[in-house]
Amino acid sequence: MENKITQYKWVDNMGTNPASVDLDTGIVQLNRQTWGSYSKFQQKFIIKHEEGHLNNPYGSEYDADRYALNKMAGTESRSLAKSVHALESIPGVTESRVEKMYVEALKLDASMGNKIAEKELLKIKNMNGKRIKRATGTEAETILKNRGNSHKTNGFVMGNYYFSFTNLFLMVIIILMLRRKNS
Ligand SMILES: [Zn+2]
Repeated sequence: MENKITQYKWVDNMGTNPASVDLDTGIVQLNRQTWGSYSKFQQKFIIKHEEGHLNNPYGSEYDADRYALNKMAGTESRSLAKSVHALESIPGVTESRVEKMYVEALKLDASMGNKIAEKELLKIKNMNGKRIKRATGTEAETILKNRGNSHKTNGFVMGNYYFSFTNLFLMVIIILMLRRKNS
């Protein structure tokens, strides 16, 4: 049985912490001052993180993060990269938490057949616990491509680049159109 959040309460003076959950009552407190500054996706992610605590009371922050990632994965396009970014932009979240989340996201994406994610995982593994250089922003979005997109991997990897068949198809059309124009 999954533990559900029972109620939401607005709270003042929570500092920078966006939310917290009471493990006995299942009530989630939301930071009235900062909540509105998060995107809808980030808000959902934070709620799922708190739900993660509720379902694993002795678990760590990492466990709650992983729970949230799994709940958010596939809910919309680029959900994995967005999850990593959601965590990253919460004040007070350590880089080590974001790194762990990044690796979890890569594993999920690799399991869905994203070859770039698989390569990235291997690269991290070969660093033997040394600090990883985590891809951020658009780079992370290129790597964490697969999960959450409506279609499966439709493309191939060449060097460090991923070519989707849709993009290639569009490129061919554009080239053909340009050639027709010039002739
Ligand atoms: Zn937490």
